[in-house]
Amino acid sequence: MKRSVLALSLALLVGLFFYFDLQQLLTLDSVRERLAGIEAWRASSPLTAACLFFMGYIVVVALSLPGATIMTLLAGALFGLVTGTIIVSFASSIGALLAFLVARYLLRDTVQTKFDGERLQTINEGIARDGAFYLFTLRLIPLFPFFLINLLMGLTTIRATTFYGVSQIGMLAGTIVYVNAGTELAQLEHLSGILSPSLLLAFAMLGLLPWLARRVVAIMQQRRIYARWQKPARFDRNLIVIGAGAGGLVSAYIAAAVKAKVTLIEAGKMGGDCLNGGCVPSKALIRSAKLAHQIRHADRFGLTNSEPAFSFKQVMARVHAVISQVAPHDSIERYTALGVEVLQGYARIMDPWTVTVTHDNGEVQRLTTRSIVIATGARPFVPPLPGIDAVGYLTSDTLWDALAKLDQPPKRLVVLGGGPIGCELAQCMARLGSGVTMIEMAPRIMIREDEEVSALAARALIADGVRLFTNHKALRCEISEGRKYIVIAQSGEEKRIEFDQLLCAVGRTARLEGYGLEELGIETGRTISTNAYLETLYPHIYAAGDVAGPWQFTHTAAHQAWYATVNALFGHLKRFKVDDRVIPWSTFIDPEVARVGLNEQEAKEKGIACEVTRYDLADLDRAITDGAACGFVKILTVPGKDRILGVTIVGEHAGELLAEFVLAMKHNLGLNRILATIHTYPTWSEAGKYAAGEWKRAHAPQKLLRWLARYHAWRRG
Ligand SMILES: Cc1cc2nc3c(=O)[nH]c(=O)nc-3n(C[C@H](O)[C@H](O)[C@H](O)COP(=O)(O)OP(=O)(O)OC[C@H]3O[C@@H](n4cnc5c(N)ncnc54)[C@H](O)[C@@H]3O)c2cc1C
Repeated sequence: MKRSVLALSLALLVGLFFYFDLQQLLTLDSVRERLAGIEAWRASSPLTAACLFFMGYIVVVALSLPGATIMTLLAGALFGLVTGTIIVSFASSIGALLAFLVARYLLRDTVQTKFDGERLQTINEGIARDGAFYLFTLRLIPLFPFFLINLLMGLTTIRATTFYGVSQIGMLAGTIVYVNAGTELAQLEHLSGILSPSLLLAFAMLGLLPWLARRVVAIMQQRRIYARWQKPARFDRNLIVIGAGAGGLVSAYIAAAVKAKVTLIEAGKMGGDCLNGGCVPSKALIRSAKLAHQIRHADRFGLTNSEPAFSFKQVMARVHAVISQVAPHDSIERYTALGVEVLQGYARIMDPWTVTVTHDNGEVQRLTTRSIVIATGARPFVPPLPGIDAVGYLTSDTLWDALAKLDQPPKRLVVLGGGPIGCELAQCMARLGSGVTMIEMAPRIMIREDEEVSALAARALIADGVRLFTNHKALRCEISEGRKYIVIAQSGEEKRIEFDQLLCAVGRTARLEGYGLEELGIETGRTISTNAYLETLYPHIYAAGDVAGPWQFTHTAAHQAWYATVNALFGHLKRFKVDDRVIPWSTFIDPEVARVGLNEQEAKEKGIACEVTRYDLADLDRAITDGAACGFVKILTVPGKDRILGVTIVGEHAGELLAEFVLAMKHNLGLNRILATIHTYPTWSEAGKYAAGEWKRAHAPQKLLRWLARYHAWRRG
């Protein structure tokens, strides 16, 4: 049946009920007046009466008509406590189920489009986790409007069978009370007398029972987890942070800022991956490569193209100089001055409150702490290809020192992996003169992005001279007559590619072994398993950053560090769930790719309805003056609304342009607000405003505009 037909039929039935004033039949006075007649009818044909009553009850509940309470009392009067309870219990549950199904069928799609994807997901996750408990509580306490619960639950993702079962059990106590009261219906003066305050309190206590039970189970589980450990009577520190990368540094900073006694332990270089092998060196190299590229294509700016003259050694020396220049931000001196105790050495968690530090000289220091934040990061993953150790390979860990030793960039560089890191490094090495071959197993590079973004990135890389092999699997590495090869295959057909250097950029795996997780039984999968508060199996041991995942960015490591630290220090008073609604990231190829929230492919996968608005940067004045008029801003919004679901920007400064949208999404500002904000002319940031303008144009009130045209014509006479 079509939705509209069903909705109309139901509206008609409800309309008829009120039109014929049938609710008058279901008042306490009316029922009491007719009680003798109804009783006589039931006595003459008890089975028919029970069946008709049963069906009538279902209809009243299914249509959410007023009168279910009176009918429950009547059941007591007509059929007695036991039979009356059985009839009402089943009829009310079946009727509730029908109302629930109707609401689900008629309104759920509308609700899906009304809420944005992330919020709906949060609600759905809550319902999946606690829906039955919520429903049970609501059913037990007969103060919550019965019909409203049926309809609202129909709009959630709770399963119909769960809804039915929980409803039947949850309503039983209330049903018995009302049916029992109905056995004395003739003497009953008011409905309000049925539920005394003490009875209501008893129901409320019953409703809270599942929550209390859950809390007790949680406490028991914690006791079991901690049972085999001896908790110290007092602690040397409030917090120990393991790892001084983006996550650990922020964690230690916050702890010191709120005057906790905090120790930060780092086995390698202060600053971790981002400073020493990740963001900082890669962005420094990208800058040099971009300049080389611009010199090579100087005619775009009215100058003469020329081959850039440079010493690769000096380029790499600059990369290291940049690392040194940033290093004081993450240094031992800075953090010590902030009030953090920094220890250089390898940390190991010995028991839930004890951490040892093995210093370079072999000395072992033992520290106790109330809480721990694990921020041990991730390391490059090296695929187990036969022959890979024999040919040798570089990773983001070894690349920077290895390249610094070279006078020339590697002549033939194979980059394994077409993700963000592989793409950034492949492009900049190609621009600096390497012959780069990129191998990617997936059908396209940067697979998480929309197809058109991948295509644009691939075109950019190819334009810079990168040979791209997508859909190709690396099989093995070989050495033949002193030459190095990698063998790749597509549909069974093998190719052999000769190289001088092989760079593995196929992803990074969380550091999970060797520092006590195994001994403590802390669960791990691809990362350390944590809950929404970033607690591990032990609620006072937290994880943040790449080791906690699922993201592998400096800014997400810092974001998580805030939650882990605040929860570690103050969680006994108030805990905070990680807010991961708005996570941005950028890939610094040229043109840059920046994203926050949903893109089109994710919206499709998750079945989230959205509108897509595009603004081409070819149209932006500043992009034209800068000779970089390529790329686009793509915004996904809730259909018919200006609420932003996600933004992808491809183009120069995309990472910077994204910030406005990140702010807007975080603080629920729609495109109208962006449009109403003055953006300086001529800037790249105007792209955001123009994109919002495109959305506005598509949503212009056409009818009103037609009337306005008439009005102005009339004004002209
Ligand atoms: C080439 C490249 C480019 C990147 N570019 C960007 C970018 O542009 N933007 C971005 O946001 N992200 C980028 N990243 C990712 C970013 O570097 C990481 O996400 C970030 O550094 C993670 O921080 P973290 O604190 O979780 O871990 P890390 O920075 O890895 O820090 C962990 C630290 O813990 C230490 N440690 C581990 N175990 C122990 C132990 N038992 N005892 C003591 N110390 C220990 C390690 O020595 C390490 O220093 C890039 C990464 C790479 C490889």
